[in-house]
Amino acid sequence: MPHGNVIRGSRVGSAPERPPERYEPAPRQAVTYWCRNGHRVEILIAAEAAAPALWDCPRCGHPAGRDAQNPPGRARSEPYKSHLAYVKERRTDEEGAAILAEALAELRRRRGR
Ligand SMILES: [Zn+2]
Repeated sequence: MPHGNVIRGSRVGSAPERPPERYEPAPRQAVTYWCRNGHRVEILIAAEAAAPALWDCPRCGHPAGRDAQNPPGRARSEPYKSHLAYVKERRTDEEGAAILAEALAELRRRRGR
Protein backbone atom coordinates (compact mmCIF):
# COMPACT_ATOMS: atom_id res chain seq x y z
CA MET A 1 0.00 0.00 0.00
CA PRO A 2 1.43 3.36 -0.99
CA HIS A 3 2.08 5.79 1.71
CA GLY A 4 2.43 9.53 1.69
CA ASN A 5 -0.68 10.36 -0.25
CA VAL A 6 -1.97 12.58 2.51
CA ILE A 7 -3.38 15.93 1.47
CA ARG A 8 -2.00 18.54 3.70
CA GLY A 9 -3.28 21.99 4.10
CA SER A 10 -6.37 23.62 5.27
CA ARG A 11 -9.14 21.43 6.42
CA VAL A 12 -12.05 21.16 4.08
CA GLY A 13 -14.95 23.15 5.35
CA SER A 14 -12.98 25.29 7.72
CA ALA A 15 -14.65 28.63 7.94
CA PRO A 16 -12.74 31.87 7.81
CA GLU A 17 -12.02 33.10 11.26
CA ARG A 18 -14.77 35.27 12.56
CA PRO A 19 -14.02 38.64 14.03
CA PRO A 20 -14.55 38.50 17.78
CA GLU A 21 -18.06 39.47 18.68
CA ARG A 22 -18.14 42.76 20.43
CA TYR A 23 -20.35 43.37 23.41
CA GLU A 24 -22.51 46.35 22.64
CA PRO A 25 -23.74 47.88 25.88
CA ALA A 26 -27.31 49.10 25.89
CA PRO A 27 -27.56 52.85 25.50
CA ARG A 28 -27.35 54.56 28.86
CA GLN A 29 -28.14 57.93 30.24
CA ALA A 30 -26.37 59.63 33.07
CA VAL A 31 -28.65 60.99 35.77
CA THR A 32 -27.33 63.28 38.45
CA TYR A 33 -28.70 63.58 41.95
CA TRP A 34 -27.83 65.83 44.84
CA CYS A 35 -28.38 65.09 48.49
CA ARG A 36 -28.86 67.69 51.17
CA ASN A 37 -25.23 67.33 52.22
CA GLY A 38 -24.11 68.56 48.85
CA HIS A 39 -22.98 65.22 47.51
CA ARG A 40 -23.29 64.84 43.79
CA VAL A 41 -24.30 61.38 42.68
CA GLU A 42 -24.22 60.36 39.08
CA ILE A 43 -25.77 57.09 38.06
CA LEU A 44 -26.14 55.38 34.72
CA ILE A 45 -29.45 53.87 33.84
CA ALA A 46 -30.84 52.42 30.65
CA ALA A 47 -31.63 55.19 28.20
CA GLU A 48 -35.22 54.14 27.82
CA ALA A 49 -35.83 53.87 31.56
CA ALA A 50 -37.42 56.67 33.48
CA ALA A 51 -35.04 58.07 36.06
CA PRO A 52 -36.29 57.56 39.60
CA ALA A 53 -37.17 60.74 41.45
CA LEU A 54 -34.98 59.83 44.38
CA TRP A 55 -31.72 58.00 44.79
CA ASP A 56 -30.02 57.12 48.03
CA CYS A 57 -26.77 58.98 48.36
CA PRO A 58 -24.01 56.35 48.56
CA ARG A 59 -21.85 58.63 50.70
CA CYS A 60 -24.22 59.63 53.48
CA GLY A 61 -27.36 57.59 52.88
CA HIS A 62 -29.68 60.54 52.65
CA PRO A 63 -32.12 60.62 49.78
CA ALA A 64 -30.83 62.56 46.81
CA GLY A 65 -33.01 64.33 44.28
CA ARG A 66 -32.67 65.67 40.78
CA ASP A 67 -32.90 69.32 41.79
CA ALA A 68 -29.53 70.60 42.99
CA GLN A 69 -31.14 73.71 44.50
CA ASN A 70 -33.74 71.82 46.44
CA PRO A 71 -32.50 68.41 47.56
CA PRO A 72 -35.01 66.26 49.42
CA GLY A 73 -34.95 66.17 53.18
CA ARG A 74 -33.83 69.75 53.61
CA ALA A 75 -35.56 71.64 56.36
CA ARG A 76 -38.53 73.53 55.04
CA SER A 77 -37.72 77.10 54.21
CA GLU A 78 -41.33 78.17 54.42
CA PRO A 79 -43.69 77.51 57.29
CA TYR A 80 -45.94 74.54 56.97
CA LYS A 81 -49.16 75.28 55.19
CA SER A 82 -52.14 73.06 55.37
CA HIS A 83 -53.84 71.90 52.26
CA LEU A 84 -56.68 74.21 53.13
CA ALA A 85 -54.28 77.17 53.25
CA TYR A 86 -53.19 76.41 49.72
CA VAL A 87 -56.78 76.05 48.64
CA LYS A 88 -57.65 79.39 50.19
CA GLU A 89 -54.88 81.06 48.20
CA ARG A 90 -56.52 79.96 45.01
CA ARG A 91 -60.15 80.45 45.88
CA THR A 92 -62.44 83.02 47.34
CA ASP A 93 -63.54 82.80 50.95
CA GLU A 94 -66.95 81.74 49.81
CA GLU A 95 -65.62 78.87 47.79
CA GLY A 96 -63.28 78.07 50.63
CA ALA A 97 -66.17 77.93 53.09
CA ALA A 98 -68.03 75.55 50.82
CA ILE A 99 -64.97 73.35 50.47
CA LEU A 100 -64.40 73.48 54.21
CA ALA A 101 -67.99 72.49 54.90
CA GLU A 102 -67.65 69.65 52.45
CA ALA A 103 -64.40 68.52 54.03
CA LEU A 104 -65.90 68.68 57.52
CA ALA A 105 -68.92 66.71 56.41
CA GLU A 106 -66.62 64.10 54.94
CA LEU A 107 -64.57 64.01 58.12
CA ARG A 108 -67.67 63.61 60.27
CA ARG A 109 -68.94 60.90 57.99
CA ARG A 110 -65.68 58.99 58.36
CA ARG A 111 -65.55 59.50 62.10
CA GLY A 112 -69.14 58.41 62.39
CA ARG A 113 -68.30 54.92 61.26
ZN1 LIG B 1 -24.82 62.55 50.57
